[in-house]
Amino acid sequence: MPYIKTVKSEFGTADFLSRMDKVKSAARAVGIDAVLVTPGADLRYLTGYDAKALERLTCLVIPTHGDASIVVPNLEVLAALASPIADLGLPVIGCGEGQDPYARVADLLPGALSIAVDDHMWASKVLRLKAAMPDAEQQLAGGLIEPIRMRKDAREIAALRRAGAAIDRVHAQVPALLRVGRTEREVGRDIAELIISEGHVSVDFVIVAAGANGASPHHDVSDYVIQFGDAVVVDIGGTMPDGYCSDCTRMYAVGDPGQEYLAKYDILFDAQKNSREMARPGVSAGSVDAAARSHLDEHGLGELFIHRTGHGIGMQTHEEPYIYQGNPFLLEPGMAFSIEPGFYDEGRFGARIEDIVVCTETGIESMNNQPHELVVVD
Ligand code: ZN
Ligand code: ZN
Ligand code: ZN
Repeated sequence: MPYIKTVKSEFGTADFLSRMDKVKSAARAVGIDAVLVTPGADLRYLTGYDAKALERLTCLVIPTHGDASIVVPNLEVLAALASPIADLGLPVIGCGEGQDPYARVADLLPGALSIAVDDHMWASKVLRLKAAMPDAEQQLAGGLIEPIRMRKDAREIAALRRAGAAIDRVHAQVPALLRVGRTEREVGRDIAELIISEGHVSVDFVIVAAGANGASPHHDVSDYVIQFGDAVVVDIGGTMPDGYCSDCTRMYAVGDPGQEYLAKYDILFDAQKNSREMARPGVSAGSVDAAARSHLDEHGLGELFIHRTGHGIGMQTHEEPYIYQGNPFLLEPGMAFSIEPGFYDEGRFGARIEDIVVCTETGIESMNNQPHELVVVD
């Protein structure tokens, strides 16, 4: 049976048609004949269809001089028609198990010489499309779609606000889960349940990094047993029913983590605040990075800050714009990104403080509003 997902979203036909139109115009402007999009955030953003990524081809075909259509495996047709794509007026072309969906796509694009494929398309599909359309040069569609996706409208910002509030409610409950003797995995399992019960439809990641594990920025969970005095990095996120993502890090300690840690935490606290104060339209992404990095540098923690300050977020947890050292890209109203400096002292401890913020006309609005202070659990 096809899998039918119920979509609860306030985004509708007008949004999707306008988004597809923007992509089409952007593609036409650079001489691309068609944009091809397979399941993932781009497809969902453009059509509302949260399609399953299968070995079978599902592919939205947007010719720059013609009308869009979507090729889907026969067994996915009902799922496609149960999604907002049914209202967009574009043909849903079913492909049987014995048929070649790549040839179907090629038939829709006679004479195409330049094709943009979505950045997350599987290599197996990219190569089969190439074989079906040997004369068409392929390039990435990210350069066309990302600039549109990163400029969020008021309703998208409202969606990120709801995602932020949901993950804030999870963080508010984390202190009750942390105690000496529990493993990171046990705490992580409880957090995952809360991520869902507070309104997300999927748990995208749960990092519970206690003690020395905190020094690995992307530590997941482990069977490590939390000890008295451990600082615990809790970095968590999920996806809401409308497809928008949350991502927030707060710091906890189970018992007193000691003077050295507390002093370093204060420096990080100020560094993260400096970046939040720097972020606003017209300022470069690099300046936002520098605001945190220079403060950590000045206080001897610069060497321990081993990653960029942030990443964009929307229907994917990581998307444009990226907030890294020296990035001259200028922020604009409607751009959403994380501010998450940290320090990582291998074999000892780590810390990170992370908020998702959105550029307003004059500054930023934070999607996350739990206090930034270290929460010491007795
Ligand atoms: Zn995070
Ligand atoms: Zn993040
Ligand atoms: Zn200072």
